[in-house]
Amino acid sequence: MKHVVAQVIFMGAVLAFYFAIDMMRKKDMKHKENIWFVNVCFSSVMWSMGFFGMLIQTDPAVALYWRALGFAGIISWLISTQYLVCHFDNTPKPYRWIAEGVALLGVGIFFFIIQEERFTFKLTEVGMTYSFEKSIWNDLYLVYLFVVAGNLLISVVNMIKNPKVNRMRNLGKRLLLAEVIIVAGMVFATILPLFGYPALPVNAIAQFLGVAVLYTAVLQTNRSRITLDNMSEYIYYSLNIPVMVFDAKEKLKILNGAGSSFLGIKEENIPQVTIEDMFKVTREQVFEFEGTSQNVDATCICNDKSCGLTVDKICDSYNDTIGYIVVVTDFTERIKYVELLEQARKSAEEANEAKSIFLAKMSHEIRTPMNAIVGFSELLLKMDVEDEIRSHVQDIKSSAHNLLAIINDILDISKIESGKTELVQEKYYTARLLEDVTVIIASQAQKKGLDFESKVDENIPKQMYGDKSRIRGVLINILNNAVKYTDAGKVSLEISILERNKKKIKLAFRVADTGRGIKPESMATLFDSFERVDEKANYSIEGSGLGLSIVKSYLSLMGGEVKVSSEYGKGSVFTVELEQEIVDDTPMNKEEPRNGEPAGKKFGFKIQNIRVLVVDDNPVNLKVARGIMSAYGLNVDTASGGQESIEMCKNCNYNIVFMDQMMPDIDGMQAMQQIRQLNEHYALQGEGKIIVLTANTIKGMRDALMKQGFDEYLGKPLNIDRLESLLCQFIPKENIIFETQDVVEDEASQESEEITYLKESLPEIDVEMGISHCGGELDDYLKVLEITYKYGEKQLNELKQLWEAKDYSDYNIKVHSLKSTSLNIGAKDVSAEAKRQEEAGMNGEYSYIEDNIDQLIADYKDVLKKIKEVLLHYGLLAEEMDEEEKPRLDERMAIHMFRNIGKCIDDFDFGKVFSILEESKKFRIPAQYAEPLLKIEELMDSLSVDEIREVLKEVIPKS
Ligand code: ADP
Repeated sequence: MKHVVAQVIFMGAVLAFYFAIDMMRKKDMKHKENIWFVNVCFSSVMWSMGFFGMLIQTDPAVALYWRALGFAGIISWLISTQYLVCHFDNTPKPYRWIAEGVALLGVGIFFFIIQEERFTFKLTEVGMTYSFEKSIWNDLYLVYLFVVAGNLLISVVNMIKNPKVNRMRNLGKRLLLAEVIIVAGMVFATILPLFGYPALPVNAIAQFLGVAVLYTAVLQTNRSRITLDNMSEYIYYSLNIPVMVFDAKEKLKILNGAGSSFLGIKEENIPQVTIEDMFKVTREQVFEFEGTSQNVDATCICNDKSCGLTVDKICDSYNDTIGYIVVVTDFTERIKYVELLEQARKSAEEANEAKSIFLAKMSHEIRTPMNAIVGFSELLLKMDVEDEIRSHVQDIKSSAHNLLAIINDILDISKIESGKTELVQEKYYTARLLEDVTVIIASQAQKKGLDFESKVDENIPKQMYGDKSRIRGVLINILNNAVKYTDAGKVSLEISILERNKKKIKLAFRVADTGRGIKPESMATLFDSFERVDEKANYSIEGSGLGLSIVKSYLSLMGGEVKVSSEYGKGSVFTVELEQEIVDDTPMNKEEPRNGEPAGKKFGFKIQNIRVLVVDDNPVNLKVARGIMSAYGLNVDTASGGQESIEMCKNCNYNIVFMDQMMPDIDGMQAMQQIRQLNEHYALQGEGKIIVLTANTIKGMRDALMKQGFDEYLGKPLNIDRLESLLCQFIPKENIIFETQDVVEDEASQESEEITYLKESLPEIDVEMGISHCGGELDDYLKVLEITYKYGEKQLNELKQLWEAKDYSDYNIKVHSLKSTSLNIGAKDVSAEAKRQEEAGMNGEYSYIEDNIDQLIADYKDVLKKIKEVLLHYGLLAEEMDEEEKPRLDERMAIHMFRNIGKCIDDFDFGKVFSILEESKKFRIPAQYAEPLLKIEELMDSLSVDEIREVLKEVIPKS
């Protein structure tokens, strides 16, 4: 029994030594906790060996040295344990340093308590032990022990309460256990001797137990530390994706947590499960493949989910397959999502198509009533209405026109969106296309007081192949915007060649303006349908936000693109890049100067030594044709019927005969056929060309006419562009002299000539004032003059009748309206007199009216007479003919005319009804139709549509 305790202690020392060596050998000494633990172990060895040596001594002098070794072990143990605990603990640094410092104080105390006089050795049953003598150093030692034990306790409790990571809590609990054991041991071995009892060396045993607990704690910390070695294991188990590892024999070896829960396989079943038990696949599909990796689609048997299996071979360094890793991806959600997306795409497409169809239908439906609005407005404008009403109606008409333009845009866009827009590709002359565009834009820019400049690369081919009307649409839209969104400065168009080869050419159309520009944040939505940007600033500008969207769509149809750059407040540049096929490579400014001059010029030409014959039974038409054609320098003869034309052709070889299609004696076709027989000159393919004049320019008509033997056709009323192109086509080049003039100058000088003429012809009228009332448009002014003339006579008659009937109030109304209509055309004197009469009427000064009414009527009649001359000059009024001279309207034509009137009424195209009625005056109307025609004319005044339909029903035979 005597040395049993000593032997147990010795065993403890050996084991502690083993722990230290084991830790040093196997574990990573980079980690501080391992170093401190090894220190703890060696301290423990010293502690145990000290007590072991002391216990087996009989000589107190020798026992004292062993005792000193034991004390050194205790102090070292306490210091190392404090450092170890502080390392695990996350106590803030200053507290840590204090705790560690306090532990280190033990080194100082050690030297005082190992003095011989501090102990009394006794031989006991367990061997040599000791008790402390009373001294201050022994008391200090006791305090030291308590403080260090207390610090350790605080650190360990803090570790359990606030662990750095969760696994530290577990570690803290073990450390606490170790400490409790050691403190219990200390009470017997150290504290009892302080009170004079002999020391029982249980503390040496207890500290060893403590070291054993610490050993397990440090081992666990090492295990749970993530190192490169165990990292893959961590990844593998932490992965939320099912992962399986098969061996070379395709046996399942490992299945991670995510895998077992996804596939519903328990760990104990892993060895029995094959891939075919888990998925609806064959083992060959999964494991037999070339290369190192493959993907297989499979359905999971346990949950019916669609999965993707990524199978990777695991190869050794000889490249032999030693196993497979299979990663399972659950596609179910993704497939559902894709299906949902597909569904959403389909319904969006359907909705879009429905929208396009709806828009197309609605636009179509809206067009008819819109025509009615335009028609009624036109009608009202023709009537004798007050200024204010006229201005409102004018606004209605222009708004209706704007709305129609928007509806047309909507129709375009919905056609594009529903994929119904197809390109109409054909050969076209480049210069002609550019001229069309620039003429329109130049005039718009001029109206707004902007400069318009165009610069075209001279080497652009003369003739190309493409959809010229879409190109025109694109350019006009962009140029229109440039003018619309520019208040001052200039708009320019520059056309250059980007690339070219023999067959194709890529052009850049650059439209620049000095306008308000576009904000950078608006660029993204610029080309979206119905998207107007910077609406606040552009509030006053009409627009629907469809123009650029149409531009983009047309360009993408044609394989082109549009780019924009803009500086807000300074201006914008739109550049269109488009490829076209080359038809004729000749530079467009050479060989055909008419089409080739840079845009911005007007291309005029004079014709020499060419004689033409115009055949028409209507003298006004003949007069107009003669006027137009002689302006080109043509020698023009006229014939008023087919027979006459044949006679004339016998005597003269005309270069071109323009033959009216419908004539009373022999019609155009018969006359043409007879002329063709006359001689070689007129024979088919001969030099003399016969061009038919026809109002009937419906599709297919041209081919029919050409088949009959005409060389070409020309629409009535004469279309100048077409006339010019026919002249260029049929007249030898040597007879044409091309001349160019600046458009603006030319137009301006022409217009000023017209104004001079008007001023001379209408001395009582302030022509400039009248034109300015018509928005500065000469053409519109002439139309107003025409209307004023047509209603003038009637207006004067009514005035006279009302005066004679002493209907003063109605007289006043009429004279008021005369005041405004006359002022409208600039007839200031008449208007002033009408105003005086109106005032006199209101003041009851009828004698003034009595004295002056005749003069007023005479003056106004004089003005009307002069207006009539002007209208005749412009061909706007048919010269009145004797009734006998007029051609007779036969029954067939009359019925045709009534049918036409009916159709126009149905379309609300009242303007056309008026034209038909006007036209009818050129004919002798058979008695049975004269009355209904008159009735319709009257009813048109009040626009009594239903009554007109009644009259038509009577007169048109039912078929
Ligand atoms: P809108 O009918 O409104 O003119 P667009 O589709 O043609 O429609 O143009 C869309 C918007 O782009 C316009 O509302 C305008 O704000 C802006 N925009 C287009 N061209 C220009 C330009 N040259 N300068 C400034 N802003 C422009």
